[in-house]
Order: sequence, then C-alpha cells, then structure tokens
Amino acid sequence: MLRYSADIRTLLWCAAMPVVALSMYFNPGLIPWMCPLACYLALSAGVIAHNHNHCPTFKSRRFNNVFGMWLSIFYGYPTFAWIPTHNLNHHKYVNKAGDATITWRHTNKHNLFVALSYFFVSAYYQAEPTKAFIRKAKANNPPLYRQIVTQYVVWIGTYLALLGLAMGMHGVWAGIKVWIFAFGIPAIFALWTIIYFNYIQHVHTDPWSEHNHSRSFTGRAINFFLFNNALHAVHHEMPGAHWSTLRQAHERIEAEIHPDLKPRYFFPWCFANYVLAPFFPRFGTQQIGRAPFLPPPGEKAEGAIGDEMEAVDAGVNAARV
Ligand SMILES: [Zn+2]
Repeated sequence: MLRYSADIRTLLWCAAMPVVALSMYFNPGLIPWMCPLACYLALSAGVIAHNHNHCPTFKSRRFNNVFGMWLSIFYGYPTFAWIPTHNLNHHKYVNKAGDATITWRHTNKHNLFVALSYFFVSAYYQAEPTKAFIRKAKANNPPLYRQIVTQYVVWIGTYLALLGLAMGMHGVWAGIKVWIFAFGIPAIFALWTIIYFNYIQHVHTDPWSEHNHSRSFTGRAINFFLFNNALHAVHHEMPGAHWSTLRQAHERIEAEIHPDLKPRYFFPWCFANYVLAPFFPRFGTQQIGRAPFLPPPGEKAEGAIGDEMEAVDAGVNAARV
C-alpha cells in the first residue's frame, strides 16, 4: 500500500491525531496537556501534507485522495491549496520575484515584527493565485475541480459535525470551548507555524546560488519531529525525493552550504534573532550572497511580481486526479 515503508511513522502520527483531539472531548480536564500535543500533531499534518503533495504516500490514487482529506481536517485547511502557491509557484521561483510567498514583500529586514506579520502578508498574496487555480480547474479540469470541492465539503462538514458532537456532549458553550481547544487552536497554530517556517527557510538567503537558496536546520530532534522538513536546501534541489531520503542527500551538499545557512538548533536561533539581535545586530541573520531582488549582472530575473498566475495555468492543465 505504501510507497515507502518509512511512512509507517507518518500513518502512526495520523492515527494519533483523532485520538489526541477526541481525548479532550471525553475528558476536558486533559485540555492543558492534550491541546499542545494536538497543536504539534496539526503542524505534523501540515508537514505530512507538504510531503504528500510532493511525493504521494500511497500507491493507489484513491488512497492518496482520501489521505489528503484526512490531513485537511487536522491541518486546518484543504491540502490542495499547497499545489498552486507552493509546488507550482514557490518551488519554481524560490523566493525570487514571481513567488507568491516572497519573504521580502515589504522589507528585506528580519525582525520579530516582520516574522510575526509574515503569515498575513503571505496568506494575502496566496489568496489570488489559489482562487484563480480553483476557477481554472472548474473551466479546464473537472476531475481536479471535483476533488477541490470535495476537500472543502469534507473539511467544513467534518468541522461542523465535530462542533455538533462537542455541543451534544457538553452543552453549547462548554462544547464550543472543547472544540476550540481540540481543533480550532491546533489548526491556527499549524497554519501560522508552517508559513513562518517558509519565512525563516528563505529570509536573507541567496536564490541565485546553487546551495545557499535556503536555510536548513540540521538538528536531529527537529528533523525527527518534522519528518526532515527542516532540511530545506536539499528539498528544493530534489523536491520529489521522499522525506526519509533527505538526511543522506543533505550530507552530500552540506559542505557547500554557507555556515550561516545551516544552524543546528531552532530555538536558540530564534533567541539569537528576536531577543539578542535587537541589541546586538551581529546575532541576527544577514543577507547571504545576492538578495532575491537583485539578479546577477547580465542575467534576467526569471519572473516578476505578478507572475504567480503563470504556474496556476500550467498546474491546472497538468494535474491528473
Ligand atoms: Zn516543498
């Protein structure tokens, strides 16, 4: 059934998602313990959706579709949304003009304010290509359109059913509270964190460089918990490679990555950037190499702001559901 046996772990995580969320339904006293765990599992659902959209988990197309819907429920948004702005667009332009998720939309500075507000900026600029993708799927690729609509219906329908169940078990207000802790907060946490990861994986990197186009966090723990998704440079170089193969692939290019673009630990890196750097700028990230908005002399920028739509057309026509 599985294309890679390493995905047994993926399935274990996915099986834990409803167990953890529903444990709060049966015993709301567990909320302080289980809500953080549900947040982590919702983030995992996002990471797994990313992996799954690049490299499908199952051999069967039908299983892959059902799996995408399962992930949508815990991630907090239909997973097809990764395709127009991530797979087709971000991977093509890699933080250069034309990428809907550029880290330098209003400024190339990196500080706490820009990091916190990036979610809203990125979500705003992803909305238009996502809507265009749906519109064009409706016109040119009916099976894709049906899959998108099904994801929305399953996602919203399941949320409403789960809200109803919580209200039935605990009464209206207590039920809403349980639902918010079991599903609402984890979904918001996952969406925000995934987009923040996109930010830190590219801010102050050099998209014109062979290996310095991304920042990779190399620690064992973060890569265990995030299915190797912190090894971002190698992911861009081999986007179709299965997550379980990325550590080995990373080791092959590691020596050629700029030392500032392969920090080991995530939390100390955040501490250095958001607590120390406001007072001692040398602890913060600096632009490495060439900034994304400065093409090398003689080279044309491949894309321009506004080119986000190009990938949408190509994607709608190529997508086979
Ligand atoms: Zn990707």
